[in-house]
Amino acid sequence: MRVVVIGAGILGSSVAYHLAMNGIEVEVFDEVHQGKATLAGAGIVCPWATKVTDPEWYALYAAGARYYADLVEGLTQRGETDLGYGRVGALVVAEDRKELDAAEQRIQSRIAHAPEAGNVRRVSAAEAKRLFPPLREDLDGIYIPGGSRVDGRLLAAAMTRAAVAAGAVLRHDHVSLELREGRARAIRSDGSPIEADEIVVTAGAWASQILRPLGMEHPVRPQRGQIVHLRLSGTETRSWPVLLPMTSHYMLAFDDSRVVIGATREDNTGFDYRVTASGQAEVLNAGLAIAPGLASATIIETRIGFRPAGDGYKPILGRVAGMDGLVIGNGLGAAGLTIGPYAGRLLAQICMGEAPDTDTSPYAPASA
Ligand code: FAD
Repeated sequence: MRVVVIGAGILGSSVAYHLAMNGIEVEVFDEVHQGKATLAGAGIVCPWATKVTDPEWYALYAAGARYYADLVEGLTQRGETDLGYGRVGALVVAEDRKELDAAEQRIQSRIAHAPEAGNVRRVSAAEAKRLFPPLREDLDGIYIPGGSRVDGRLLAAAMTRAAVAAGAVLRHDHVSLELREGRARAIRSDGSPIEADEIVVTAGAWASQILRPLGMEHPVRPQRGQIVHLRLSGTETRSWPVLLPMTSHYMLAFDDSRVVIGATREDNTGFDYRVTASGQAEVLNAGLAIAPGLASATIIETRIGFRPAGDGYKPILGRVAGMDGLVIGNGLGAAGLTIGPYAGRLLAQICMGEAPDTDTSPYAPASA
């Protein structure tokens, strides 16, 4: 069997990795768009605190986090250790005690089925500040030991490298699709067709553009995220937990004295790849209000990514009914670095004709 994967973000890389590990012939195409979401994603893997209640979405979010241990072990066995992955814990903080109580109840009800979250406990403001030193002094928190963070660009590159080591081919090229005798056919930018038994479209926010010639209106749009990277020179940050205030903003740290504050969620910007004054101000103000100890940090860069945002929260995963050999994975929105590796495994199972580990029928794409 021969599979072509269009788009090598976190999702397409995972599809390629899982197919190649099963001996399937894979060709992966990536156009390396500026704004690829996987390159900008913060990398928080901590589903248990979310306020989103959609059960089908949450099921994948939780399964994605659970899958990380296996994924990291499998990659490590193949010599891929540079993933920016760390089980550093997560710290949920709130100004309002009632809000923190509600968060604790929400988390406790979820972790009953998620031992990987660890022994969740309340922490005093002093302990919270000890865990995340730039934090304000007056914020009590909830500590979740199983929260983790990952560098999406390193993880996607590692999965792609492992796939290539197992025989997959990676090409940097634009692929388009055309309808030929009731089937989708993939075409390279020089006009040459790509032979494939299965085509997997994991083209993120750009997917609707390539699916349109097939007569499909694919409901995924770009949602711009601006995310600021700071450096606290000389400060050891690698073990700091992910910081989750009760807003849509958050902070996390990496090994190289790097602290990341995210992020804007901007709809209707199209593919406008610019750092804007209001985006930068929004993120910095939100971060400094919670962690004033970051005020003197150096701004290293602001990354821009286009989240693939669907109509609701639910991802789109599975075969397109009415068109043989076409599989779509998309709509991972703000949770794709958590869901993506697991969803890629499910899509690989579908391509191989196996029953996926999780029933994907609730996430099925619209028929052709
Ligand atoms: P992408 O990473 O966008 O990849 C799609 C790829 O397809 C691109 O490389 C593109 O070049 C390629 N492509 C498109 N069209 C074509 C074509 N015609 N031919 C060839 N190639 C093509 N998730 C979390 O779980 N935790 C977080 O903390 C988190 N934080 C985030 C913060 C920000 C600022 C952003 C933007 C996202 C965040 N996310 C987070 C979400 C996550 O990053 C995305 O959901 C995920 O990366 C989407 O992956 P993808 O593979 O679907 O798409």
